[in-house]
Amino acid sequence: MRLIFDKSVKDRACVTLPASEIPVYSVKNAGFLRIAAAELPEVSELDLVRHYDALSARAYGVDSGFYPLGSCTMKYNPKLHESMAGLCGFTDIHPLQDETTVQGALEVVYLLTEYLKEITGMDDGSLQPAAGAHGEFTSLLMTDAYFRSKGERRKKILVPDSAHGTNPASAAMAGFSVVNIPSRRDGLVDLNALRAETDGGVAALMLTNPNTLGLYEKNIAEIAEIIHANDSLLYYDGANLNAVMGKIRPGDMGFDIMHINLHKTFSAPHGGGGPGSGPVLCKSFLRDFLPYPLVGASEGGYGFLKPPKKSVGKVRSFYGNFLVALKAFAYIIALGRGGIRDAAEKAVLNANYMCALVSEFLEAPFGGARMNKTEVSECGGEGGCAGSFECAAESEKSKKFGGACMHEFVVSAEKLKVDTGVSALDIAKALIDYGMHPPTVYFPLTVHEALMFEPTETESKETIDAAAAALREIVGEAAKNPEKIKNAPFTAHVGRPDEVKAARKPVLAR
Ligand SMILES: *Cc1c(COP(=O)(O)O)cnc(C)c1O
Repeated sequence: MRLIFDKSVKDRACVTLPASEIPVYSVKNAGFLRIAAAELPEVSELDLVRHYDALSARAYGVDSGFYPLGSCTMKYNPKLHESMAGLCGFTDIHPLQDETTVQGALEVVYLLTEYLKEITGMDDGSLQPAAGAHGEFTSLLMTDAYFRSKGERRKKILVPDSAHGTNPASAAMAGFSVVNIPSRRDGLVDLNALRAETDGGVAALMLTNPNTLGLYEKNIAEIAEIIHANDSLLYYDGANLNAVMGKIRPGDMGFDIMHINLHKTFSAPHGGGGPGSGPVLCKSFLRDFLPYPLVGASEGGYGFLKPPKKSVGKVRSFYGNFLVALKAFAYIIALGRGGIRDAAEKAVLNANYMCALVSEFLEAPFGGARMNKTEVSECGGEGGCAGSFECAAESEKSKKFGGACMHEFVVSAEKLKVDTGVSALDIAKALIDYGMHPPTVYFPLTVHEALMFEPTETESKETIDAAAAALREIVGEAAKNPEKIKNAPFTAHVGRPDEVKAARKPVLAR
């Protein structure tokens, strides 16, 4: 597509304004005047509209089709929440206005924090961080401040090898050194390795549960015991909260501090660089280190609390991305207690169902792998295996099936690659021709040729069936005609960009 600049024709304009009736004043200091006119494209309104309309048609989002990008929880974002976030009472206010004139907005900040505390089993929190990784970073600053306040310096953060890349990155940015904890063959944290690495220099273990393989860390109580016996903190990466919200709470599992990705779990749109929201929540003994401003409620209404005594300071302007928080608030009150739990159960059920379908032709090294379609539906749903974490981790039924997965699952194309030369990347690319967004690939690093799917609760059985059928067709084609799959996609505007250069040196026109 040509750039808007290439479509420019001299003196063509969208609008022609009448001559101004206001007298012209000459600027005193001519040094501030620009010498040449700005180089702006000169196009008609219709050319402009068509240009941007064509560009928008090239964007792919959850509203366009299936988006099973594992770890990213690309659920549908209800339009109701967009309209709430568009209300002028929320958009036309300024954070420096007097508290008494923004009571509604402060109520949202206060109540959302209360709901998040309830959902996570934590005692306090701040909505300030602007993304999950930012929440990790903030929590690690708080962790550091906590140990310093006790007169201790602890410089190590433990991170399992299946962790999201942001975990070690945030730890390094916050000045810690990262110690890698290997996973066992079943994908869970190796407790012996954890014990061996847990010493007086360890500030925290960062963990997500269910983990990035979509597996519930059933030894979480023991993990918490090991960490707490060493006076270290247990950090919860809340990116996978969608699998357990309303069912079990990180606070009850023994976690001390955590972040939530409001833009994943609580349905604010994300991708393409933001905006997001990554609130930090903590147990009461860490309250003093939270960033501010914090909002409290009293008889007289809502207002700012005094900054916590040992606060790490501000990590973002004002309250963070307020409108993202507002959409999450709308989501929570629209679903209610029962709806939140139901969303988690359906997210787990959908993942297990899709895993059962896909593992018929791609190896699923963990979890739902060994269940077939009938077995999942037998044990899925209310009170059943796929619907609950206890069951996923522990029940007789799920043990019989080799353990269910939670809200996402990983399959491996390693065997297919050996047999046909077709890789996980090739399969992902071929899915584009079926009108779908590819899954996450080559993550977690612990699985070779990994494809990681997270269908989320908002997808229908028909959509999941169609995706599994497309995958089956691709894998079948790979055996017959590998070169074709290796050159896919054929319908995309840009098929195989250089994975590194595409981000650093984008080609903007072709
Ligand atoms: C998405 C994700 C993060 C980082 O969150 P951002 O909001 O993208 O910064 C951290 N951990 C896990 C497991 C994630 O999936």
